[in-house]
Amino acid sequence: SMSIEALHSAVRDIPDFPKPGIVFKDITPVLSHPTLFRQAITLLCETAADSPIDKVVGIDARGFIFAAAVADRLNAGFIPIRKAGKLPWKTRGLAYALEYGEATVEIHEDAITPGERVLLVDDLLATGGTAAAAIRLIQGLGGDLVAASFLIELDFLQGRQQLGDVRIESVLRYG
Ligand code: IMP
Repeated sequence: SMSIEALHSAVRDIPDFPKPGIVFKDITPVLSHPTLFRQAITLLCETAADSPIDKVVGIDARGFIFAAAVADRLNAGFIPIRKAGKLPWKTRGLAYALEYGEATVEIHEDAITPGERVLLVDDLLATGGTAAAAIRLIQGLGGDLVAASFLIELDFLQGRQQLGDVRIESVLRYG
């Protein structure tokens, strides 16, 4: 559609960022454009349009921007998953492998009540390690994960294969 095309052309490729050999997808031109940002949120919400959502979980840091707007649109609460040491109260953490080394993400213990219907939102699905860790944290608290919704999916990295049975929706896909 027209808006998908407009979103595609707004996403900017940045070669060799943050390291040589990586082509980084820069989504800030989507954020700075008033109608494109709204359209992106509308398309992210469509993944869950057929079912009520209690909590929208966003991943530190670009995921927060999209997930918070989606939560507002869906009349749901917003839950942050953050890098280790950033959340102030009691947390559950999970370490996961990166290309070099590992990272830990955390969620507040009381962020999700067992049985609540949860939508996971992030800006970009790459190798899937981050989303897989987030999904385990959500399911570990008893959340009913309805879907995981991404603005961008890098198909060639096959991240969705790390996410098991979960329904995965992406607005823009790069092969
Ligand atoms: P993964 O764990 O390899 O799937 O990486 C996904 C995470 O890294 C997401 O939280 C993204 O915000 C971030 N990320 C990885 N590559 C990019 C990119 O090209 N643009 C924006 N964010 C990226």
